[in-house]
This record gives sequence, C-alpha cells and structure tokens, in this order.
Amino acid sequence: MAKSLLFPEFKMERDQSRCISCQVCVRQCANDVHVYDQGDDKVTSREEQCVGCQRCVTLCPTNAITVKKQEAGIRPNANWSTQHLRNL
Ligand code: SF4
Ligand code: SF4
Repeated sequence: MAKSLLFPEFKMERDQSRCISCQVCVRQCANDVHVYDQGDDKVTSREEQCVGCQRCVTLCPTNAITVKKQEAGIRPNANWSTQHLRNL
C-alpha cells in the first residue's frame, strides 16, 4: 500500500507489556484497524483507518490501548472543513 502524505487523524498506542494478544480489539473494531500476526503473536494497528471512537480502548481487558488525536493533524480553518482538506 502506498504511503499517504496525510498524518493519520488519531494516534494509537499499545502497551506491549500489558497486551495479552486476546484479539478483543481485532474483533470489535468496525474499521479493521487492529491486525493480529500469528507468527509474532502480536497485534499491530493501521492508524490511518481509525475514527477515534474509543471502543477498543473501552473493551481491552488489560487497558493496553490509548487512542489520541494527532497533534500534527490539520489545523482548524474557517473556510475548509477537515474532511474537505483531506479530500483534496
Ligand atoms: S484487546 Fe487489549 S489485550 Fe487484547 S489484543 Fe487488543 S490490545 Fe491486546
Ligand atoms: S478507536 Fe474505534 S476505530 Fe479506532 S481502533 Fe479503536 S475501535 Fe477502531
């Protein structure tokens, strides 16, 4: 997949010392953000697909996930909405 020039809108952090690879987040995210790698027995994230709903944060049994708004996102603009700027 080609790298996007836009920063993902949300930043995903997974505390690997807490994650037990239960895959609850993989099954519950409607946007397929979390991906389980069977070989490594680890879960990784595709942040660019995250909409920041916090569902995975709430459902993770070990509180391993943090989802925050990206600081380097698009600045507020009186004429153009964030969605318009992303669609350019
Ligand atoms: S729900 Fe939490 S503990 Fe389970 S795989 Fe996802 S991050 Fe790891
Ligand atoms: S915050 Fe919502 S969209 Fe983002 S990874 Fe978690 S469940 Fe998926």
